Amino acid sequence: MEETHTEVLVIGAGPTGLFVAAELARHGVRARILDQCPVPHTQTRATGIQPAALEVLHRAGLAEAILAESVPVRGLRVFNHRMEEAFLAGGPAAGTPFNYTCSIPQWRTEQILTAHLRSLGGEVERGVTAERFEIGAEGVRVEGVDARGGAFAIHADYLIGAGGAHSPVRNALHERLAGITYPRRYLVADAAVRGVPHEGDRLAVAISPRGMVMVAKLPAGRSLVLTNLPDEVEPGESPGLDDLRRALAHQLERTFEVEDVRWASVYRTHRRMSPRFADGRCFLAGDAAHLCSPLGGEGMNSGLMDGASLAWKLGAALRRGGRAALLAAYEPERQQVARQVLASSEAMHDFYFGLAEMAAAGQSLTVPPPDPTREVATPDMLDLALHESPLLGFHGSALGVQTLRPGRRFPARTRLTGCEHHLLVYGAEADGDRAALSARWAHCLTVLDGEGICPPEQSGVSARGAVLVRPDGYIGFQAETWNAEARAAFERLFATQFSPA
Ligand SMILES: Cc1cc2nc3c(=O)[nH]c(=O)nc-3n(C[C@H](O)[C@H](O)[C@H](O)COP(=O)(O)OP(=O)(O)OC[C@H]3O[C@@H](n4cnc5c(N)ncnc54)[C@H](O)[C@@H]3O)c2cc1C
Repeated sequence: MEETHTEVLVIGAGPTGLFVAAELARHGVRARILDQCPVPHTQTRATGIQPAALEVLHRAGLAEAILAESVPVRGLRVFNHRMEEAFLAGGPAAGTPFNYTCSIPQWRTEQILTAHLRSLGGEVERGVTAERFEIGAEGVRVEGVDARGGAFAIHADYLIGAGGAHSPVRNALHERLAGITYPRRYLVADAAVRGVPHEGDRLAVAISPRGMVMVAKLPAGRSLVLTNLPDEVEPGESPGLDDLRRALAHQLERTFEVEDVRWASVYRTHRRMSPRFADGRCFLAGDAAHLCSPLGGEGMNSGLMDGASLAWKLGAALRRGGRAALLAAYEPERQQVARQVLASSEAMHDFYFGLAEMAAAGQSLTVPPPDPTREVATPDMLDLALHESPLLGFHGSALGVQTLRPGRRFPARTRLTGCEHHLLVYGAEADGDRAALSARWAHCLTVLDGEGICPPEQSGVSARGAVLVRPDGYIGFQAETWNAEARAAFERLFATQFSPA
């Protein structure tokens, strides 16, 4: 049996695995990445890339390639079952250069990620199935079957399970995706659609007494059509145009035209999460760790964000003097985010089926009042927070502007580049400190004049404060006023995360 060694092994080359491998390469770590499929799939699946994910892709140097190949979606247009407009909801996102969702088939996103990974020196090893895992304190031994049918063994210092909902790594950790499966089945299809008004680039959703039909524009005149199926309908193994037409006729009194179905699938949706996202040197990311209702359009996005989070922590641990605290924070941070994503996806799910209940009761469709018992993140994913993270710190008497506390997204994060942390210091008198600080932490920190990036109020600090921005664009530390005490507090915190030069 062929035996090899690698620093980091990624199992699964879906969007999560591809992005984590590419981000690791950007952080200076050449990971191996395996996928059991001999060739990439051509399925449309998850099509919406949200503003927050675009910001993360921008830091990785990828947003522009995705935007060039996608079409914009700005808000929602809700119709009744006669395709008469009921109301508009949502619109452009605020406070981001990427103020809309972009719509692109998943296979194309994966092609772009694969090309990006290749440009950084990485290549997916295809037709390679990981089967057995021996997990030890110093690393993991993975055995499986390669593309020629031969047995292989890889010793990896770190293992990333990005194998999707049936993740073999999660199974090896004896964890399962705990949660619920939602009651309905859905038919989703990539089709040519005529007669759906998409003015203003809005996502079209028709509500009927039986459920909903969503039509999302895709590039090249295509659309993703998604509808819940009646329980009694049993489409064949490979659903097609007739199944789609029947499903639409079941929902809508006046339907629209569909033809040329290139891909279709029937599936169930879930709200599920693994109790563990990490165990020693093994990490779970993407669908391997959490599943949410696709009606929120967040599942693939949160996988991409898991990838970015894990890559900077592992990159720091392996290349920039990062301490164990960084990797230990992956699980609590991403679980906190996953809980928010599962809740906000469920809120969108309930929003659509709440409207269907209104329709079934013969009421006209109006925007339902917000549920005060439910605190959910916005669908643009910009307000996802990780303020339970053990990596955060604050120095001062008050938390500045409350919404901009450590653990929140730094609003100007797209103005920062590179792999390291950035400390933005405001006020000229801080200049003397900068050289000493920069020298001590040169391998992992860039110290900048904050005014050159954004005004202090956008950083949530005073005109003489400071803010630490992490490589994933989250605020890691704030000093209301940057002085000797604040610097000492910052260095105490930072020294728990990095060794000094
Ligand atoms: C039929 C279908 C329709 C969907 N439709 C939608 C939708 O409309 N909207 C939406 O938001 N989301 C949708 N999704 C979900 C979306 O596709 C996922 O959220 C997304 O793909 C998750 O990415 P991932 O990289 O975490 O996992 P995946 O994309 O599942 O990738 C996992 C990869 O791991 C590989 N792998 C698994 N086991 C092994 C092994 N033992 N050895 C080697 N490789 C392995 C697999 O071949 C696969 O390529 C759909 C999913 C499916 C399957």
